Amino acid sequence: MPLKRLRSYRKTLAFRLTLWYAGVFAVSAGVAFLLFYTLITAVFRDRTDQELLAQAREFSATLSSRGMEAVRNLAMLEAQAAGVKKVFFRLLSSRGEVFSSSNMSYWQDIDIRQEAIKELLRDRNSVFETVSIPNRKDKIRVAHVLIGTGVILQIGQSMEADSRFIDAFKNIFLVTTVLLLGLAAGVGWFMARRAVSGVEAVTRTAQEISGGTLAKRVPVGTRGDEIDQLAATFNQMLGRIQTLVTEIKEMSDNIAHDLKSPITRIRGMAEVTLTTGKGIEEYENMAAGTVEECDRLLDMINTMLMITKTESGVHPLDYQQVDMPRLVRDACELMGTVAEDRGLTLACETPETLPLVGDPRMIQRILANLLDNAIKYTPFGGRVKVSLSETDGGEALVTVHDTGMGIPPDDLPHIFERFYRCDQSRSEPGTGLGLSLARALTRAHQGDITVTSTLGQGSTFTLILPKTRSNQTSSIEKHV
Ligand code: ADP
Repeated sequence: MPLKRLRSYRKTLAFRLTLWYAGVFAVSAGVAFLLFYTLITAVFRDRTDQELLAQAREFSATLSSRGMEAVRNLAMLEAQAAGVKKVFFRLLSSRGEVFSSSNMSYWQDIDIRQEAIKELLRDRNSVFETVSIPNRKDKIRVAHVLIGTGVILQIGQSMEADSRFIDAFKNIFLVTTVLLLGLAAGVGWFMARRAVSGVEAVTRTAQEISGGTLAKRVPVGTRGDEIDQLAATFNQMLGRIQTLVTEIKEMSDNIAHDLKSPITRIRGMAEVTLTTGKGIEEYENMAAGTVEECDRLLDMINTMLMITKTESGVHPLDYQQVDMPRLVRDACELMGTVAEDRGLTLACETPETLPLVGDPRMIQRILANLLDNAIKYTPFGGRVKVSLSETDGGEALVTVHDTGMGIPPDDLPHIFERFYRCDQSRSEPGTGLGLSLARALTRAHQGDITVTSTLGQGSTFTLILPKTRSNQTSSIEKHV
């Protein structure tokens, strides 16, 4: 593996987690080894001590029952039976002088320690020590036991078998630990990689997105764990961002397109007048046309600003008591002449009273937009009817019904979007912002606006406004 790649691995979370796994395992194995080692050596030493004591007791019993000669014979016999390299016996006086022993050729290096004898004579029945002899691998456990008056038995036993066992234990433990350490590191690496693979997928997708591909999504697993939840949340966020970006793009395209048309017209008028205009009349016409187009532009820009402010809550509503029947009648009256000019019948049906709390100017604007559309999109001879009533839930309900061109089913879900205009209605003047504003204002009043329509037969817009203002601050849904 190239050095650079190894270095980059060292920085990864997976590598560090693996190191932790392996580290914790190694420390635990070390502690376990120490515990076992101490326990095993203590058990072996104890067992040897018990054996030595048992033999010393036998010597003591022999001395008291059969005398010193029998003890000497016993020492020889016992040493021969166990093996001269396994045990030795020495009989000492209280001054530490040897007066009898088993075959000591193998045990010459074992000294008689005066301190041990002194300690024994002071107040102890037995004194044990572990002796190491240079150049000999095994250790020797030596006991000094007082077996009769002034008779000390020094008895030693090789701990070679125990040492062999402990060495084997050490080797097996070491090999097993190394193998398990490798396994732990492998398993740790696998688990850590598995755990962080989801995070890596999120990171990769985020990198691809910063490269410009918003359509990318993180694959979501089926385990439902934290990583899957992160991936799902990340995808949701991406979906929302993608929708917003698309909407913003569409909107800016629309804005550019819709602002371009009046500006092009103004420029065209000015150009034609400049090149062909001869008299003051042409210039007056151009000025009038420019004012008209500028008014349209300003109206469009102001409406756009108003929608944005209303949706974001920056434009607060001027809540007050509203006489709804009067407001509806005023709107009908205002639009009556226009309807008449277009050969339409405009009917208005309202109850005597229906008070509600709202912003009268804004409600007027909603009504004006709906009525304006109904008149605009209904051909000569048609009918427009506005009715006001109260719903069972105690809300004000305004319906604006017309017998006009209707709206194609495919267009219906879009007509409240900014700048959306159905193809069939493009011959009529309009900006495609009226219904967006009406909906934004209605929602600011915590109301709703819906439409039903049959192509070629007419449309009905339904506006519902709560009669009282709910405690929550005007809940404005933000629609970018
Ligand atoms: P516009 O300025 O084009 O009227 P609106 O936002 O008020 O913009 O309306 C959006 C589109 O919805 C209109 O262009 C038209 O195609 C359609 N529309 C609205 N009201 C009606 C209606 N009463 N009858 C038929 N089509 C309608």
